[in-house]
Amino acid sequence: MKKSLIIIAAIAAISGANAQSIYYQDKGNVDMARHTLRKDVLRKEFVLPKVNGYTVYKSDLHSHTMFSDGHVTPEYRVREAWIDGLDILAVTEHAEYRPMERSMMDYLKGYLPEGTAPINNVVSDKPADNRGILTNLNLSNYKATKAAESYGITIIPGIEVTRTPETIGHYNALFIEDANTIYDADPATAIRNARAQGALIMHNHPGWRRTSLEMTEFEKTVYAEELIDGVEIMNGSEFYPNVVKRAKENKLFMAANTDIHSTTAMDYNNQGEQRNMTLILAKNASLDTIKEALKKRRTIAYSYGTIAGDEELIKDFIMACIEFEVFNTDKNGRKSIRMINNTSMNFVLNFGGNPVQLRSFTSRNTSVGKGKKLTFTVENAWVPTESQHPEFEIKF
Ligand SMILES: [Zn+2]
Ligand SMILES: [Zn+2]
Repeated sequence: MKKSLIIIAAIAAISGANAQSIYYQDKGNVDMARHTLRKDVLRKEFVLPKVNGYTVYKSDLHSHTMFSDGHVTPEYRVREAWIDGLDILAVTEHAEYRPMERSMMDYLKGYLPEGTAPINNVVSDKPADNRGILTNLNLSNYKATKAAESYGITIIPGIEVTRTPETIGHYNALFIEDANTIYDADPATAIRNARAQGALIMHNHPGWRRTSLEMTEFEKTVYAEELIDGVEIMNGSEFYPNVVKRAKENKLFMAANTDIHSTTAMDYNNQGEQRNMTLILAKNASLDTIKEALKKRRTIAYSYGTIAGDEELIKDFIMACIEFEVFNTDKNGRKSIRMINNTSMNFVLNFGGNPVQLRSFTSRNTSVGKGKKLTFTVENAWVPTESQHPEFEIKF
């Protein structure tokens, strides 16, 4: 014990710049000290208030692992989600595009039966078993669900129906029962198969590899058949402002997802960014409750500090994030107001052509004349109205 204390003091003095530097010594080891931080796995908290009595759960409804074309294991994907502060994650491998399978099967080559067909690594529109291999498409969901038990994260079992982006597009089936029985050569039938399992269908990255958001024949058909429950307003770095109105018109939940293939450290965190999130307002994070919240469209899309959602919900969210406090009234009745943002959100408030930042965990002051209302729009929030940004009029 005495020896450990000496080591702590000595090393802390050398690395004086870091006040948290704490070394300890393993019992019985006189020659090595160990730093405490090395073993700490820390979760970054993205702080949001309760809104209308609901907890705002942080989810990513679209991610990939090495079981399709992602770079990491399902277990790593879950740990990463936990570190990034998420509560809910969907692992959604491409049903028809799984190039990592080739690498994995190449590794096992010696054990493949004679005459096994080569594995295609382009979008094949063919189920795995037609290619001479049997693949359990539920495996990554199983593994993620198992890994999530240690983190308290809810895993939504899912799969991505992946067809020609220019004409058909990609669709995430969420809350599926069995990924192996969804595939069909006809994409609409594949979506109907997922629906028959009780899945919710999200239209992914609707503008990806398109020059316009004009709906294709296929999209018109599946939308008209009411097979679509949600849509990505944001996917990775892409943002489709005009889909906000489409979501309202078609009663779709609005989502913002990473579609992460590499790591969020690479695509977001090392750039100082929070990963994309679909914020879900619900009483708890159980699968049934989250599914119900998505059906009721209680979601807000978050990407690179920008949010999108239905007008009422976005306004309630912003009013829950910002606290207004009158701290002085002068002799002419002009009120001094402090706006306090005790959340991880940044807001851009526009007071009649004069935009200012109200950054996370900061406050700023403004004032309003006698009998006047404080009026502003929030520029980094998008809603399905004519002005596209929510408008506030607050009386004090
Ligand atoms: Zn996709
Ligand atoms: Zn994807």
